[in-house]
Amino acid sequence: MRTPLVAGNWKLNKTAAETKVLIEEMLPGLEAVSNVDNLICPSYLAIPAAAEMLKDSKVALGAQNVYWEEAGAFTGEVAPDMVAEFCEFVIIGHSERRAYFGETDESVNRRTKAALAHGLIPVVCVGETLAENEAGKTDEVVSRQMRDGLAGLGITSADQLVIAYEPVWAIGTGKAAYPEDASRVIGQSIRPVLAELFGDEIAQGIRVLYGGSVKPSNARDFFSEEEVDGALVGGASLKADDFIKITEAAA
Ligand code: PEP
Repeated sequence: MRTPLVAGNWKLNKTAAETKVLIEEMLPGLEAVSNVDNLICPSYLAIPAAAEMLKDSKVALGAQNVYWEEAGAFTGEVAPDMVAEFCEFVIIGHSERRAYFGETDESVNRRTKAALAHGLIPVVCVGETLAENEAGKTDEVVSRQMRDGLAGLGITSADQLVIAYEPVWAIGTGKAAYPEDASRVIGQSIRPVLAELFGDEIAQGIRVLYGGSVKPSNARDFFSEEEVDGALVGGASLKADDFIKITEAAA
């Protein structure tokens, strides 16, 4: 049995002070839901304040990215041990990183290895663009991102890794994928690659989230799909009530 995970990607939103307010608003509602794990990923500068507030709660903390080098002349980057000082998780390879910041499957692979080496749990994002989807290339693209992004990882247990299937055309557009399509992609192009890479037992235990315009009104439909183990939520994770309702739907 995979425990559902409902994760919030706050992107470039909320100062440290605003982060505290939003956590205060959502924490009691999240704490009231059992059998669902929660993760929130605020901006780097808000992470220490968030860590203080979440330290005795069931809500885990994550960063939105991490660099692969340990230290040195890499101005503006954040090293894995800096993230691991405060966080348990880190999002890697989000499509916005791929589209705007030159992220590739190779850099995703380097970041993921570095995160694992420091005990962080990577939430690795994969997903096709609209053009790829319309050209019928979804499975080819997603399985390539999986194989290249996750090559050579020394995963020994399922709880070391989370995958988020996020069709790029569904992110922030209000146009979610059909739940059965998301489930099909996970079942055909994500879990089988996890099995190739890490063996069947580990692959069956790794949580695979869906992301892309998840909201309270469609969350239940996604979570009733057997292959969907939770959600990576952008916009709706910035509204306490919506994020709580999505978490309740996962329960
Ligand atoms: C995301 O940023 O990962 C995401 C899924 O965003 P949204 O929920 O706003 O589509």
